[in-house]
Amino acid sequence: MASEDVKDSPAMVVFDTEAANSLVKELRSTVIAGKTKSYEWRVSQLKSLLKMVEDRDKQICDALFSDLSKPEMEAFIHEIAMIKASCKLALKKLKDWMKPEKVKTTLGTFPSSAEIVPEPLGVILIISAWNYPFLLSVDPVIGAIAAGNAVVLKPSEVAPAMSSLLAKLFGEYLDNSAIKVVEGAVPETSALLEQKWDKIFYTGNGRVGRVIMAAAAKHLTPVVLELGGKSPVLVDSDIDLTVTARRIVSGKWGCNNGQACVAPDYIITTKNYAPVLIDSIKHQLVKFFGEDALNSLDLSRVVNSNHFARLTKLLDDDRVSEKIIHGGQTDINNLKIAPTIVLDAPEDSLIMNEEIFGPLLPIVTVDKIEDGIHFINSRPNPLAAYLFTNKKQLKEEFVSNVSAGGVLINDISLHLMVDTLPFGGVGDSGIGAYHGKFSFDAFSHKKGVLHRSFYGDASARYPPYTPGKLRLLKALLDGSILGIIRALFGWS
Ligand code: NAD
Repeated sequence: MASEDVKDSPAMVVFDTEAANSLVKELRSTVIAGKTKSYEWRVSQLKSLLKMVEDRDKQICDALFSDLSKPEMEAFIHEIAMIKASCKLALKKLKDWMKPEKVKTTLGTFPSSAEIVPEPLGVILIISAWNYPFLLSVDPVIGAIAAGNAVVLKPSEVAPAMSSLLAKLFGEYLDNSAIKVVEGAVPETSALLEQKWDKIFYTGNGRVGRVIMAAAAKHLTPVVLELGGKSPVLVDSDIDLTVTARRIVSGKWGCNNGQACVAPDYIITTKNYAPVLIDSIKHQLVKFFGEDALNSLDLSRVVNSNHFARLTKLLDDDRVSEKIIHGGQTDINNLKIAPTIVLDAPEDSLIMNEEIFGPLLPIVTVDKIEDGIHFINSRPNPLAAYLFTNKKQLKEEFVSNVSAGGVLINDISLHLMVDTLPFGGVGDSGIGAYHGKFSFDAFSHKKGVLHRSFYGDASARYPPYTPGKLRLLKALLDGSILGIIRALFGWS
């Protein structure tokens, strides 16, 4: 937990309901004073954030290692580089994003002009998760600052080293009259949730997502819920086998050892193709992590003993453990579980129903590849759905028939690096989206503004109402020039 020097940090607050209340009051007064709204303030905070990442990348990597034994390469690519890119994009595009957008008007309001003006929402609460504890905390903060809001970040207590580092660094680098970190677990988060926010952005599991939404409903506060689910990978036989296996192994175990919201949760392939695919995946596993994967330095550990117990419970079912075809070794002292493949686990087993979020990978076999689409569609909407194929028709069928937060063809996870794509779930996998301009939009209100002049004040809209006025109004609403002329000149 937080060390003494961290407790002294000005960005950190020791917490109960009263403290939460005065925190929100303080931030709201900063917002009302207009401080966070200016382009200059937003740019200064984004620049400081970028400088913070550049100055402190070593400390960030150390915290990620302490919380998850995350390899430095993964820490750099998946967290530090992503945040730098996000910050740089916001700095580059902010002027454009803030510009009002001119839009067309209708004949009925002639003469007039209209625009959509993005305005800050106010005071934002961001609650983040432990698995990418730097990325998932800082990326939404970038969007909230870019959109001109004050922010409270509540990092996950499950990644304590990162939580205290964020409190310390935000205190040093950012404007603490508008940007704060509150550390803590359920009691502190509950105190925060009792307050009225202008938006709550939550990343985590769906059970707590429901708690967040219920608390938000009391104040009519809008939410973004970035949740998870069982993200499937459908593998056709018409593929580059080696590339497919490498991408699956890297996307599953090379991204935080399966503890990623978009990690492949299970694979579906045909009965005929399964043996070839499995051999290739096993081969790549050994190539990447050696014969003794349990001791590989290139695999993150399981985050804590609760999650270790949750994962081993998924293998506890005899009907599942007898289907393990690779891995299965565990090391409770070091919280390590070897990459494990389970072939055709029963449909009603826990492993086929709970989000796995760890190094276990079930493979489901079907008769025809199209059956895989039915299998996916018979379950809750996943956050990501993956397809490996070269067939144009199968790609089209997958994109048009599978409802998921995002779809990626012939790779794993990379869609979330494309900042022109919205990142978020649908149905059980979440509400709302962010990344790139979508982050700015997530924390802005789009205010519709219509401008009229005092000219062209047609008396037809005012009483006393007459049949002629009604005819003119109908013609105007229909956009019928002839009808308007007829009504104006009293022609029938
Ligand atoms: P977690 O345990 O860190 O919890 C998330 C946050 O919720 C934490 O800040 C925690 O303090 C808070 N919290 C926990 N219980 C609470 C309660 N009762 N009331 C109020 N707040 C509470 O993270 P987790 O839930 O284990 O995260 C894993 C889940 O998150 C998976 O389902 C994963 O797919 C999903 N996830 C989604 C994304 C995404 O971007 N869509 C990213 C990462 C993880």
